[in-house]
Amino acid sequence: MSPIEQTKIRLPADFETYGEARRAGFLRMKQLKEEGARVVGMFCSFVPTELIYAAGALPVGLCAFTDEPIPAAEANLPRNLCPLIKASYGFALTDTCPYFYFSDFVVGETTCDGKKKMFELMGEIKDTYVMQLPHSRDPAALAFWREQVLAFQRKLEDFYGITITEADIRTAIRRKNRERDVMRCYLELGKLDPAPMSGYEMGTRIDAGSFSFDLEQRCDEVEERTAQALAQWEARKDRGPSSRPRLLVTGCPNAGVREKIIKAVEELGADVVAFDTCNGIREKVELVDESNPDVYDALARKYLNINCSVMSPNDSRRTYIGKMIDEYKVDGVIEIVLQSCHTYDVEAFFIRRFVTQEKGLPYLNIETDYSQADKGQINTRLAAFLETIDK
Ligand code: SF4
Ligand code: SF4
Repeated sequence: MSPIEQTKIRLPADFETYGEARRAGFLRMKQLKEEGARVVGMFCSFVPTELIYAAGALPVGLCAFTDEPIPAAEANLPRNLCPLIKASYGFALTDTCPYFYFSDFVVGETTCDGKKKMFELMGEIKDTYVMQLPHSRDPAALAFWREQVLAFQRKLEDFYGITITEADIRTAIRRKNRERDVMRCYLELGKLDPAPMSGYEMGTRIDAGSFSFDLEQRCDEVEERTAQALAQWEARKDRGPSSRPRLLVTGCPNAGVREKIIKAVEELGADVVAFDTCNGIREKVELVDESNPDVYDALARKYLNINCSVMSPNDSRRTYIGKMIDEYKVDGVIEIVLQSCHTYDVEAFFIRRFVTQEKGLPYLNIETDYSQADKGQINTRLAAFLETIDK
C-alpha cells in the first residue's frame, strides 16, 4: 500500500458536534414542553416511532453516549454491562438528562438482556413501558410483534386520553418513510469516490438531527447538505478516485466512541464511507409498506426486519454488509463492539469470517467503552490496520 497521508478532517462552517447539538436542543425541548408538547423517550430503532407521531407526540432518543453518569449507575448496575445501558440509566438516576426529565413516559424494548433488565430499574424512576420484542422473524413472531405494536398504540391512547386513527398512522408512516428516504440518500453519498464528506460528519449529522424535533425541518436540512455535498463533488470529480482506503463501520451504536475510532481513523488517512449501524443505513433500507391494507402488519413487518444482532438467526446482516461492500467499494471493515454487548460480540464471529473469507477484505474488531483509557491503543491498532489494506 502507498503511504497514507494523515489529515485533519474538513468540516463545513455550520457543523455542530453531537454534544453541541444535544445542548442546543435543551432549550428547544423546554420551550416545546411549555407550549404543551407531548414527549415520549425511547432507546432503540425497534420502537415504531410512527405511533408516537400519530399520537401527536415527539419521540426523543435517550440513549446516552458519554461516560459521565456511569459511576452513579454502577451503584445499582453491574460494572460489566454495556456502557450505553449504564450511561442511559445513570442519566435517569442522577436526573441530569433534560430529555429524560421532559419525557412524559419512556418506551423500552426487550432487545438485549442488559437493556431489558435495566428497564425494570428505570421503571422505579419514571413510567417505563416495555415492548416485548421477539427475537426471530417467523410467522408466530410476526403475529406476536403485531400485537405488541397494537398494545403500544393502546398505551399511547390511555396515557394521553386520545384516540389514534388509522389515518393518523398512515400520515405518520408517510412522514417517516420520507425521512428514511432522505437519510438514505444522504448516507449513500458514501458510494461516491472520492468520498464527498467525512464519515465523522455523516454520522454526527444523523445523530445530532434527532435533537431538532421538527421532522420536516430535519429532512430539509439533510437534503440541503446532500445537494451541497453533491455539487461540491461534481465540481472536483475529474480529479479521479481517491487513494485513501474506504472503510465500512459495523456493530454497536457508535456515537459514544465516534471521536476515538471514526474521527481517529479518518485523521490517519482513511474514509469511513458506509455504516451498517443504527445511526447508519440499518433502519433506513426498508420502508413501511404504505400499500399494506393492515397498518399494524406493515409496521410489524418493517421493524421485525431490522438486522440488529439481538435477532437470531440474523443472516440478513451479512447479506446486507456484502451488498454494501460491493456498492460502496469498501477496502476494509471495522466492527465496533461496546464492552459486554454479547449479541454483537458473538455475532462478530460470522462477520469476521464473512468479511475475510467471502469478501477477502481486512477486518478489525474493536471492543471498547466510553472512557478515553484505550484511545492511544486504539490509534495504534487503527494505524496498523490501515497498513494491511491493499490500495
Ligand atoms: S443496536 Fe439493536 S438494540 Fe441497539 S439501538 Fe440498534 S436496534 Fe436497538
Ligand atoms: S450495544 Fe449491545 S448491549 Fe448495549 S444496548 Fe445495544 S444491544 Fe444491548
